[in-house]
Amino acid sequence: MHSHQICIIGTGPAGSAIALKLKQLGFDVLLIGQDEFSRNFKVESLTPGVFTLLDTIGVKMDSFAAQIIRPDQVFQKWEDKTVHPDNLSALLVDRSKFDKHIFLAASNLGIKVLQPAKVVFLQEVDRTWEIRLIYKGKHEKIKAEFLVDASGRKSVLKGTKKRAAAHTLAICGSWKNTGLPKSSMMLESTMDHWLWGGTLPTEIFNATVFLDPDIDLVGGGNVLMNYYTSALEKAKLFNFCQRGEPVGKISTFDVTPYYYEKPAGHNFIKVGEANFGLDPLSSQGIQSAIVNAIQGAIVVNTILSDRRNSMDALEFYKQRQQEIFVNHLEMVSKSYQEARHWKDHLFWRKRTRIGPAPIGGWERKASLEVQSEMVQFSDQSRIAPTTCIINDQVIRRMGLLHPGLKRPIVFWDNREIDSILDNIKGIYSISDLIGKWSEKISETSSLKLFDRLREAKVIISAN
Ligand SMILES: Cc1cc2nc3c(=O)[nH]c(=O)nc-3n(C[C@H](O)[C@H](O)[C@H](O)COP(=O)(O)OP(=O)(O)OC[C@H]3O[C@@H](n4cnc5c(N)ncnc54)[C@H](O)[C@@H]3O)c2cc1C
Repeated sequence: MHSHQICIIGTGPAGSAIALKLKQLGFDVLLIGQDEFSRNFKVESLTPGVFTLLDTIGVKMDSFAAQIIRPDQVFQKWEDKTVHPDNLSALLVDRSKFDKHIFLAASNLGIKVLQPAKVVFLQEVDRTWEIRLIYKGKHEKIKAEFLVDASGRKSVLKGTKKRAAAHTLAICGSWKNTGLPKSSMMLESTMDHWLWGGTLPTEIFNATVFLDPDIDLVGGGNVLMNYYTSALEKAKLFNFCQRGEPVGKISTFDVTPYYYEKPAGHNFIKVGEANFGLDPLSSQGIQSAIVNAIQGAIVVNTILSDRRNSMDALEFYKQRQQEIFVNHLEMVSKSYQEARHWKDHLFWRKRTRIGPAPIGGWERKASLEVQSEMVQFSDQSRIAPTTCIINDQVIRRMGLLHPGLKRPIVFWDNREIDSILDNIKGIYSISDLIGKWSEKISETSSLKLFDRLREAKVIISAN
C-alpha cells in the first residue's frame, strides 16, 4: 500500500488550487479526482477576482484567455423593468475547460495524480488515513498522513452540516436553435423563483431555474421537467427557449447555502464546497472556493510544520469560514431585496431574512465628521492575542477585537495594530487621536483607520 504525506480528493477548482499551493510549499501531494473534464457543456459566471487569485498561485491564464467571454448582451429583469446593464463585470466560462486548465497547471508542477479515480471508502486507523479507490477499473488502497477533502457538495468526509438559508433547488437544462444572440447572459426574477441563463459563442444556451423545493412538486414521471419548462414559459426573458429544442436531460442540484461545523482537524481539512456552499445568486462560489483552498494550504502548512501551532491554525480557519459566510449572506440578502415588487411573496420573504450571523455583526454606518468631537474606544474593544497569516504560516499576534469587526485587526499599513493604538483607554478628540496615530503611520492611513473603527462602533462618541 503506497503511503503519502497529503492526499487531496477532488480536482475541482478548490482541489487543484490547494494542490498547487501545497506543492509550492514543498509538500508531497497526491491529487485524486474522478472527473475527466468532459462533463456536459455548462456555463458559469465568474468574477474577475478569480483570475487575480489564480495568478497568485502561478496559474497562467494567457493560453485560456480566448475561453473567457465577456457577454456581448446582458438582459436583466430583476426589478420590474428589463435593463441591459453595461457595467457588469461578470465573465462566462465553460466549467469543464476552466477546471481542466487549473488541474493541468497543478499536474504540470509534478504533483502526483490519480485520475480518473473514485474514492469509495475512507477510514482513520492509528492517526493515518486509509483510502480505498477505484482507479482504471481496479480497487486500490493507499495511506495518507493528512487528508484534504475537496470533493464538493457531496463531500466524502462527513460531519455536521449546518443549513444557513432557505432550501433552494436548481434545475438546469440546455437549449439549441433558440435564435438568441451569441455570448449573452440573462437574469430574471419571477414570483416563485429566479432564473439565470448564459451562452458562450456556441449555439447552446444553459438556463437554470432556482426554486423553493418546499413547494408542491409531487406528481409522477416528468414533474420536474414540467415545472422547469413551465417556469421558462412564464418568464418574460426566458420564454424564447420554447422556440428552440432541449439538449439532453435536465439536472437538479440542491444549492441551499450551508457550512460544516468542523471545517478542519489535526489531520484533515475541508476546502471549497466540501467546507461551505454559497447561494449561486452571488456568482462567488468559485472565487470563494479558491480563496478557501489557499487559506487551507496555509493552515495545513502551519499544522504540519509544527504541531504545537495546530490549535491556532484551526481557530483561524474556522474564523475565515464564518467570515466568508457573514459577508456572503449580507450580500445575497441585499440582492434579493432589490427585487422589490416580489417582496411580499413567500419565496422572496424567506431569502431577504438574515438569521443571526455565525460571528461578527452587520451594523455599519458612520463617517468622519467633526474633528473636535470627543470619542473613546467602546467597552467591548480589546487588544488580545489572535491569529493571522505571516509567511504562509498561521501565527498568533496581538490584535484589536470587537464584535463589530468581522475580523480582528492585526496589521494596519504594515504595522502591528497594538503598536499604533498604544492605549485604548481614555477620551480623546478625533484630531488628537489621529495626530497620535500619525506619528507611526501616515495621516491618510490614520484617517482610514479611524473611519473603519467608527463604522464598526469600536470607537464611539464620548459625549
Ligand atoms: C446550478 C449551479 C450554478 C452555479 N453557478 C455558479 C456561478 O455562476 N459562478 C460561480 O462562481 N459558482 C457557481 N456555482 C458554484 C460552483 O459550481 C462551486 O462553487 C464550485 O464548483 C466549487 O468548487 P469545488 O472545487 O469546491 O467543488 P467541485 O467543483 O464540485 O469539485 C469537486 C470535485 O471532486 C470530485 N469528487 C467528488 N467525489 C469524489 C470521489 N469520491 N472521488 C474522487 N473525486 C471525487 C468531483 O468529481 C469534482 O471534480 C454554481 C453551482 C451550481 C450547482
